[in-house]
Amino acid sequence: MRYIFSNLKHYWRSVLLLAVLLIVQGFCEMSMPQYTQNIIDIGIQNRGIEHILPSKITADEYAEAQIFMDDAQKREWQDSYSEKSGEYVRDDLDKEELEKLDQDLMTPLVLTYQLGHMTEEEFRGMVKDQADGAGPDVRVFEAEDESGKKATYVDVRPAIRQMIEAGQLQEGQIAGMKQQIEETLSKTGEQTMKAMAIRYAADAEKAAGVDVSGLQKRYLWVSGGKMMWMALLMAAAAIAVSFVASRVGAGVGRDLRYRVFRNVVGYSSAEMEKFQTSSLITRATNDVQQVQMVTTMLLRMVMYAPVLAVWGIVKVYQSHANMSWVIALGIAVIVGIILTLVVLAMPKFKSMQKLVDRLNLVSREILTGLMVVRAFGREKTEEERFDDANRDLMRTQLFTNRVMTFMMPSMMFVMSGLGVLITWVAAHRVDAGTLQVGAMTSFITYSMVIISSFMILTAMSIMLPRAGVAAERINEVISTETSIESPAQPERAGAKKGVVRFENVGFRYPGAEMDALKGITFTAEPGKTTAVIGSTGSGKSTLVNLIPRFYDVTEGSITVDGVDIRSMDLHELRDEIGFVPQKGTLFSGTIASNIRFGRPEASDEEVRRAAGIAQADDFIEEKEEGYDSYISQGGGNVSGGQKQRLSIARAIAKNPKILVFDDSFSALDMKTDAKLREELSEQEKDAAKIIVAQRVSTILNADQILVLDEGRMAGLGTHRELLDHCEVYREIAASQLSEKELEETRHAGR
Ligand code: ADP
Ligand code: MG
Repeated sequence: MRYIFSNLKHYWRSVLLLAVLLIVQGFCEMSMPQYTQNIIDIGIQNRGIEHILPSKITADEYAEAQIFMDDAQKREWQDSYSEKSGEYVRDDLDKEELEKLDQDLMTPLVLTYQLGHMTEEEFRGMVKDQADGAGPDVRVFEAEDESGKKATYVDVRPAIRQMIEAGQLQEGQIAGMKQQIEETLSKTGEQTMKAMAIRYAADAEKAAGVDVSGLQKRYLWVSGGKMMWMALLMAAAAIAVSFVASRVGAGVGRDLRYRVFRNVVGYSSAEMEKFQTSSLITRATNDVQQVQMVTTMLLRMVMYAPVLAVWGIVKVYQSHANMSWVIALGIAVIVGIILTLVVLAMPKFKSMQKLVDRLNLVSREILTGLMVVRAFGREKTEEERFDDANRDLMRTQLFTNRVMTFMMPSMMFVMSGLGVLITWVAAHRVDAGTLQVGAMTSFITYSMVIISSFMILTAMSIMLPRAGVAAERINEVISTETSIESPAQPERAGAKKGVVRFENVGFRYPGAEMDALKGITFTAEPGKTTAVIGSTGSGKSTLVNLIPRFYDVTEGSITVDGVDIRSMDLHELRDEIGFVPQKGTLFSGTIASNIRFGRPEASDEEVRRAAGIAQADDFIEEKEEGYDSYISQGGGNVSGGQKQRLSIARAIAKNPKILVFDDSFSALDMKTDAKLREELSEQEKDAAKIIVAQRVSTILNADQILVLDEGRMAGLGTHRELLDHCEVYREIAASQLSEKELEETRHAGR
């Protein structure tokens, strides 16, 4: 898992930028519900009025408003207004001051509002109580009540004011009235109180000639406009986030593929065997893709979720809706569901990568060996084998996908259920007047956002371990050091001649129980031919593979020009060796590009010469395009013998000091074989030639012949010497040549 994060180290600047962008996006997203709430609560319900102190007020209202104020409140009220040609205008106050005034003056203003807004019954009730006085100086008017019906109201404020001024009303009586109205208001929630106070402000402003509905429209336009800008900003941030996150993801993918490839190219055969080609391919493609996808998601969603959750929690806290327990409940339910699903699906997720590997292995094996499969009529069985691997993967994917399909609907169910629950709880509060409708809608939105951010986090907790497996597999490849490396301080040979010396060499394949080679000692000199012969499996290929350090010896040492090859620069060592492997491998391109493989700067002349020695010029020139003929992938469009000859030409074109042929003449006919060897000894006089062969006739004239038997030296000498002294060699020779030929070669050979 940590590998996924460590991949990002390189991209910390982009990640930082993303964090900033995400915070911006989160801020915008989370301020949207606030705007909706304002539009509903202030813009529509409160007619665009935010504060209860009217901006402009008539002198009468100004005086009447103070009926229920105590001295401190009166002072606050009077300090807030200045007289201007018979009317009072609110001073330029900032938001905080206005909010404080809202708090302090709400009750007296609502009380005065009630006084100016008495229903007929309330009025009659009051008049009865205060029988001693209320003159007829009241204003009767019609207005809509809360449910929109027309009702008759009585405004008794002028009368009360007159009475106070005339000294007819005592402090105690006012207090009594105050108490009476407060009683009717006591059942009213704070939000309804505020709504009433706002209505008061609207009435007062209207009375003072302020265009209230114009103000409302303006409020709506301004709020809507702000909301739109926020939406645009949010969209811009979201696009930028996607852009940067995708770039980082793709970058991480590219880096990983590059690092995997670079490392694998340096692998020795031991590491290649450890990982298997098919697994390496899956790791470089499928696994990298997993990591890339999760990285992008990590940056876009997982980083966003906490941002949203934090903003959401802040907003919910600010909203004072006191329904946080609903959110906690929702989160608990969702985490519970997801954990159950994870427990069910996790083991399968883990085995998925292995199954992909297996499918890859089987299909590779079948595809590369298609001819053999057909020749042996194994199509059916191989198909079944593929089918098994394919089905295993399908079953696992189906299972995990099925489990995961549960996720969306159950999440939706929980979310909708929460919506209902919140609405239900909130409805009671709206009814009680402690909550406004807009606040409820925004609360629903906040809680959905918080819950979905938790959902994303938990959902990612499923994806992450899976990608973690992939990342680990990639890291395994990246962190595996090749066992064969150039030494830090390479030694250099004095003169590069090409003397190869094996000294008591022993070798055992990693993990094998038996030594593949033991006690091999010989010297291959420049200008001479050293042949290696032995039955199949006797260790011939193993022996020559040790020279370019495909493997390191496990015992003894190999020197080239007196320097142990393990202390030579690897590149320099391999530069001196022209190696023709047992299995000719060509690359897609032209014939010329294949011959130039080891020395791209070789001239046409040199390419022609190499092809000539390798006896390849005849068939190349027969081709229509000659040296520019196309070679398909793996050399599929040339015969085995042609492939061998091109491989030989490729080795010769390098002009190496040491030429190694691993059974490279086996696909050639006797005549070509003889011609090639003749040319080799003439043209490549100075090179040390090491030839692995099956045919005694190929090596008759070799300067020395090394006979291998089950990894041990059974003999070393010339053909004649070996015929006389080496039982193993004699047997091989006798199995290939007749008595007569044996006699002849004893004299013809060295
Ligand atoms: P030859 O080329 O003489 O036919 P090899 O050198 O290819 O024989 O093989 C010698 C022995 O080493 C054989 O017994 C073979 O099973 C074993 N061997 C060859 N390659 C490997 C390998 N990559 N891992 C383990 N054992 C191997
Ligand atoms: Mg071999």
